[in-house]
Amino acid sequence: MPSIDFVITVDRTMMTNHHGKEFLGFMTTAPAVGMPEWLWMWICAPKPRVDELGRPLEAPYGLRKIEAALKRAGFRAEIIDPDELDKHLPHAKALMIGHHDFFAFCAPSNVWWAVTKREPVNRKYFIKLMESKPVRKFKERGGKIVIGGPAAWQWLHVEDLWDRWGVDIVIDGEAEKVIVDVAQKILNDEPLPRYIYVAPHEVPSIEEIPSIMGASVNGLVEIMRGCPRGCRFCSVTLRPLRYIPIDKIVEEIEVNKKFGIDHALLHSEDILLYGAYGVVPREDPLIKLHEAVISTGVGTVGWSHVSLAATVAAQREGKIVTKIMDLIKSGTGQKFIGVQTGIETGSPRLAKIIMPGKSAPYPPDKWPEIVEEAFRIMTENDIIPAATLILNLPEEKREDLDATVKLLERLREYPSLIVPMYFVPMGVLKNKKALLSFSIKPEHVDVMWMCLEHSLYWAPRLASMYLAENPVVKLAIRLFLKFVEWKKRSLERKVREILEEACRGKYMHKPVNE
Ligand code: SF4
Repeated sequence: MPSIDFVITVDRTMMTNHHGKEFLGFMTTAPAVGMPEWLWMWICAPKPRVDELGRPLEAPYGLRKIEAALKRAGFRAEIIDPDELDKHLPHAKALMIGHHDFFAFCAPSNVWWAVTKREPVNRKYFIKLMESKPVRKFKERGGKIVIGGPAAWQWLHVEDLWDRWGVDIVIDGEAEKVIVDVAQKILNDEPLPRYIYVAPHEVPSIEEIPSIMGASVNGLVEIMRGCPRGCRFCSVTLRPLRYIPIDKIVEEIEVNKKFGIDHALLHSEDILLYGAYGVVPREDPLIKLHEAVISTGVGTVGWSHVSLAATVAAQREGKIVTKIMDLIKSGTGQKFIGVQTGIETGSPRLAKIIMPGKSAPYPPDKWPEIVEEAFRIMTENDIIPAATLILNLPEEKREDLDATVKLLERLREYPSLIVPMYFVPMGVLKNKKALLSFSIKPEHVDVMWMCLEHSLYWAPRLASMYLAENPVVKLAIRLFLKFVEWKKRSLERKVREILEEACRGKYMHKPVNE
């Protein structure tokens, strides 16, 4: 077996392709509901195919970037499935782990946790990984543990766990450049800093971002980094805007195709801003991008995120959305695409305070109208949004929630899923006492309930369009939705009870050892 110095991994909730359906990944942010945990995990996070070395066929894109950066610098690095670590950790120098939400502090995990009072599976499986036998033995032998990824900031709020699990270094920010220095230091046995923050001016340039060398989960490829909108609650906005050139995007799609992944999931905080003038979409780069992607011969094309304002702007400017969707439909034969988007609030007052750029190029006063127009454009063009709302935003008032309820009523007719997120102030995370007494506010219950009703109304219809090809998974999800339909009345009472209990202060962010 070839020796690997740098083993890159993550727990099962991320080391999976979600049966080829990214939306099923939402389930990994919640505890198992209405079924045993093993079945829940099997539906949303099946083990990927691995080779004889334990390398997964598909791996999270962020891990692929770290692997590529290390390999490009000449290091022996591989992504290894978490169930296969014992094959390599006895000889490895470092274990590198990247995650989107190590401790379920991010939305929507924190909402499900607060509402159900049970730990979401992402947190549970990450803890399980850190406490697994191969990882404990690796640490006893003196191996280094390197942590990174978009949720690296969470480690600043769990300092006791650094010692408990022997974490040597946490890298917070885009790591493609610094990981090479860190790896060299590890090989040289030099001391490591405990924490590296990659500031916006230190992020890698386009040339310094390596192309992936193995397949990414569901064919995800990045088309740009950063976002110009500047919402107050979002860290993406701190990162400078960089458009990945089309030839690099195509190169990564070809890598995925080489490994049999016949799907291109384009990733950006806002697909329609690729090549834009600020926040004004441009037809030329968008059409060129989609033509190039389709010309690779991929079977399907997906989008990760679009903003509602860019959807409206693109459609008003020469029906760009329709033109792109026509290209995708005629080029691949697919009938629709699903995409994530952010409503966040239905209140123009609050939008003006916390996300004044979100509605641009239109004024925040028009935010509810923009949201509804974007939902209409999406429906007319066979785009299914999974939208987020953020509750408990700073400076939120009762009148803002009333405006959100009104908007939700207007959105009912558009096929979509709407998921409530809960804003957890950093101060709460920093202070353990505040953390343990943090609660959902009673005034949020109505909005949460409306989101649930909206999503339950549309879920069965969307499920029949979207469900995984695997007939057993299909059946399991159908049965789950039937169960929800059947239990709707008692469920309504139960959910209201749970939400009201959650209001009475049972927020469950507890230290791991309690
Ligand atoms: S639009 Fe989205 S990605 Fe951009 S700053 Fe706002 S929340 Fe962040």
